[in-house]
Amino acid sequence: MITPLVVANWKMSIEAPEIREFVASWRATADAAVDCVIAPPLAYLGLLSQVPGIQLAGQDCSSEASGAFTGECSAASLLALGCQFGIVGHSERRQRHGETDDIIATKAQQLEAVGLTPIICLGESSQEREAGETFAVIERQVRAAVRGLHRAPVFAYEPIWAIGTGLPAEPSDAGTVQQAIANELKSIFGKKGDGRVLYGGSVKPENTAEFMSEQGIDGLLVGGASLTAESFMDICRNAGG
Ligand code: PEP
Repeated sequence: MITPLVVANWKMSIEAPEIREFVASWRATADAAVDCVIAPPLAYLGLLSQVPGIQLAGQDCSSEASGAFTGECSAASLLALGCQFGIVGHSERRQRHGETDDIIATKAQQLEAVGLTPIICLGESSQEREAGETFAVIERQVRAAVRGLHRAPVFAYEPIWAIGTGLPAEPSDAGTVQQAIANELKSIFGKKGDGRVLYGGSVKPENTAEFMSEQGIDGLLVGGASLTAESFMDICRNAGG
């Protein structure tokens, strides 16, 4: 039985006072049989370092190990700040920062090299979906992202049209895509590594159980609905069944 993984991506949507409020309200639910992970803005990782039941992730990392790269954040520094995971390849970074499949693969390699588990985001645009290219896009992104990795990472399937729109994918459609990702991972890595496949895109407490009941969905990546402790606790509880 795979332990569900629920990841909160706080992006740049929260500041210290709200994080302190979140921490004060957070209750680690021992009965919620889920791994709960939060990716706060980098500067606030320390505010979450001692919170029971929460593991930490970076929202991004450099494709370089060290050196003259002003403003970047190494995988080693995420480890030093207490992270167990690092998110790479979020569509906002692919679109706004021109990150290619190659750059994302290199970032994932940096995370793996220091012992962190990469959470690699991928997903098709609405144009690609309408053109019937979803599976081709996903296969290309998966193969490119695992190049050079020795263990299966976590993947987060996030159809771009479902992120922040309030319009989630149909759980059964997401499950089918995710099963394809899981099969691909199994054929490349066997049992080595994490290999969980998450769904992300307009998840909220009310639709959590439906997504989690789909075969192929091992957890969730949550943006907007993870910003308050009540909402994120509900999602974690519902994901635990
Ligand atoms: C995301 O940004 O990765 C995301 C899934 O956001 P939301 O849950 O707000 O759609």
